Amino acid sequence: MDCIFCKIALGEVDTEKILETEDLYAINDINPQAPAHALVIPKAHFATLLECDDASLLGEMLDAAKKVAESLGIDEKGFRSVINTGVDGGQVVAHLHLHVLGGRKMNDSMG
Ligand code: 5GP
Ligand code: ZN
Repeated sequence: MDCIFCKIALGEVDTEKILETEDLYAINDINPQAPAHALVIPKAHFATLLECDDASLLGEMLDAAKKVAESLGIDEKGFRSVINTGVDGGQVVAHLHLHVLGGRKMNDSMG
């Protein structure tokens, strides 16, 4: 499957990992929208949040977001965690991922 996040999971594309477990990994976003911008990505392919019925994995992703925020030093001042879903959600990469953004005050607008 031609999926960049699957390729990184399989080691076919060499990318430095902030964190890696059996089920997921975290990397810095290639096009950061904030001073700190990481992605928490499950190794299994789910095109969107809607396709993922693994509640335990979704919990692991949030837990990983906390650890990533600590690693990036944005835990104390705060950060934003976002999952974009589908066209209106602004999803571009069709492999479930959780954005972790921080290092500056986020905009008040959520959209
Ligand atoms: P989406 O809009 O799908 O929620 O976000 C996809 C994110 O993946 C974007 O922020 C984009 O910059 C990031 N991205 C796309 N391709 C790559 C890549 O090859 N490596 C990394 N590290 N990030 C990527
Ligand atoms: Zn994939």
